[in-house]
Amino acid sequence: MGHRPTILFSLAHPDDESFMVAGVSCKYRARGVRLVLATATLGDAGKVGDPPVCSREELPRVRESELRRAVDLLGIDALHLLGYRDKDLCNADPAQIRGQLVRLVRRYRPALVITFDPNGFNQHPDHIAISRFTSDALAAAADPRWLPEAGEPHRVTRLLWTPPLRPEEIGAGPPLGNRPGVDFLVDIQAWSARKAEALRAHRTQHLSINRIWFDRPDPELALSSEPFRQAWGPPLVSRPEIDLFAGMEAGKGIAPEDRG
Ligand SMILES: [Zn+2]
Repeated sequence: MGHRPTILFSLAHPDDESFMVAGVSCKYRARGVRLVLATATLGDAGKVGDPPVCSREELPRVRESELRRAVDLLGIDALHLLGYRDKDLCNADPAQIRGQLVRLVRRYRPALVITFDPNGFNQHPDHIAISRFTSDALAAAADPRWLPEAGEPHRVTRLLWTPPLRPEEIGAGPPLGNRPGVDFLVDIQAWSARKAEALRAHRTQHLSINRIWFDRPDPELALSSEPFRQAWGPPLVSRPEIDLFAGMEAGKGIAPEDRG
């Protein structure tokens, strides 16, 4: 594993990565950071599109291929599908999903983890569930008494949550930096076309993706930055910070061109 800093994204559905972390994926991958994505479900209870892109029976397979396309576009190094049922993640066996996530944390040893906030961003029960299971697993991964067979304990330095605002609020209205919960605001303008491409890779989800991201007067504004909220980690000198690794040892190993 060496000293290569790693970010683990712990999310619920195919397309969550493109909504939430597409820009930071491209930006930090270009700076040598390793990216790992855990996706808990295949979104198999989601929409098939209108006109339909596929049948309901084909949906899990199609959504998996859409996710793999987005992962390629974003330069994510490793994708782990956790294999849970869509809209049923809250009923996952806590010991089972804890074991899966602890193994990933101890194997990849991320400095930084990004997941949904405790309200699930839009209160989707699967988003709330993955937030809860991720917090559980990060505490367990650091404690050698949990799952000693699952690898050497590892303590994550910083946990980030999705922010308490809608995608359509990004770039609209007063500066986001004054909003509570916007602790990081990462400029992704250099990667906005790639984020758009990753969003569009989720063809089955074109109705919601177009409504939220593209059918608006200022789509480029929504694609210009990605905000995050700090759950815990090193204290922030200023808010919003512009670099996810601000104040972290792990950030010293990555390319410095636009660190604040
Ligand atoms: Zn989702």
